[in-house]
Amino acid sequence: MKEETMRERVVNLSREVEEEITPILKKIDEISLYNSEKVLNAFQKYQIAEVHFNSTTGYGYGDIGREATENVFKEVLGAEDAIVRSQFISGSHALTVTLFALLRPGDTLLSISGKPYDTLEEVIGIKENASSLKSYQIEYEQIDLLNDDFQYEQIKKKLAEKKIKVIEIQRSKGYSTRKSISLEKVEKVIQTIREIDQEVIIMIDNCYCEFVGKEEPLKIGADIIVGSLIKNLGGGIAPNGAYVAGRKDLITLVADRLTVPGEGKEVGPTLGINRSLLQGLFMAPSVVASSLKTAVFASRMLEKLGYKVEPLYKEERTDIVQNIYFGNPEDLIAYCQGIQKGSPIDSHSLPLPWDMPGYEDKVIMAAGAFTAGSSIELSCDGPLRAPYIAYQQGGLTYEYGKLGVMKAVEYLLEKGKNHD
Ligand SMILES: *Cc1c(COP(=O)(O)O)cnc(C)c1O
Repeated sequence: MKEETMRERVVNLSREVEEEITPILKKIDEISLYNSEKVLNAFQKYQIAEVHFNSTTGYGYGDIGREATENVFKEVLGAEDAIVRSQFISGSHALTVTLFALLRPGDTLLSISGKPYDTLEEVIGIKENASSLKSYQIEYEQIDLLNDDFQYEQIKKKLAEKKIKVIEIQRSKGYSTRKSISLEKVEKVIQTIREIDQEVIIMIDNCYCEFVGKEEPLKIGADIIVGSLIKNLGGGIAPNGAYVAGRKDLITLVADRLTVPGEGKEVGPTLGINRSLLQGLFMAPSVVASSLKTAVFASRMLEKLGYKVEPLYKEERTDIVQNIYFGNPEDLIAYCQGIQKGSPIDSHSLPLPWDMPGYEDKVIMAAGAFTAGSSIELSCDGPLRAPYIAYQQGGLTYEYGKLGVMKAVEYLLEKGKNHD
């Protein structure tokens, strides 16, 4: 009998996986439909029209497309107000502006989900920087997660003994090995916080979590949420930018910090991107669903090949990130290179582990995306340290996501450590 080729082996495996995951994919479609209806209703409520695709230059006064876009985001996220701008150069920048807007010298910031995302270390002053919050005498304290849950008693104790200005909760795991935090847990911890302190501002780093479930954190009592537009809510169409949404008084502070005190949201030219931001949000429920399906597919494929994966394909998801524990550098590198080979852009370049500013270990990054750095498009990266975890996310369509993962698995089997 003819020996099956590697490609045939992967195709056969993917058929088995596809059958197993069908019920999961159906659930994802249900959530996508629910979120699509929310988006559609918001477009209709604010009577979005072609005129809103026009934009401004210069100071950006009277930009009705910008206002309409922010109204639609506000409505979809269940916020009193929102600021959605390309002048936020990234999610990290929006988080930075928000922290500097909310905190004053002598105030304390408390993270209750452990160490925040890597890029915030110098912002907060965990790592020295002359422009950090710490340099303005803003204190930072941290309560770690325990067994992937909040330490409710410790949080209560801290709030009872010290006045905290802002509590930060990061839902997605970042480059850590913990699980991402479900909305149910966030709701429970917010209730716990409010038993003790009704004033502390609860801020959520919502990166990678939008539209994964039916509700967003403002619905369950968070005060302000932040996310990137080259992730979920940009729908793969927004060319850059980020949003901050929540209580009106807090959004005013953020706007005055981003632009000019006293000018706030009234300025900021949109330079031709209103249409892309609106269309990106319109596509986002479906694109997030495609990313989730791609993650579920990858999870089951790699699990069947004997790798530890998190989340498991059947597990409830909170974000679009899939972890694969490769256990050795060869397999991690081969898989990431395979993802690159399966991408539409730069499929001919081979990513290599490299030193990155802000990271201790070398990192390998696969990203063959239309938008540089976009991680709502299929992308995969991992630091070169044990246990050699790949962080995979994105997929503009399930078909392309699946094809990318199949290519990566094929390359892994050919070039990885245990190739036969
Ligand atoms: C991506 C991410 C950020 C930062 O977003 P950038 O746009 O890459 O700066 C912050 N927090 C979390 C949890 C993220 O996943």
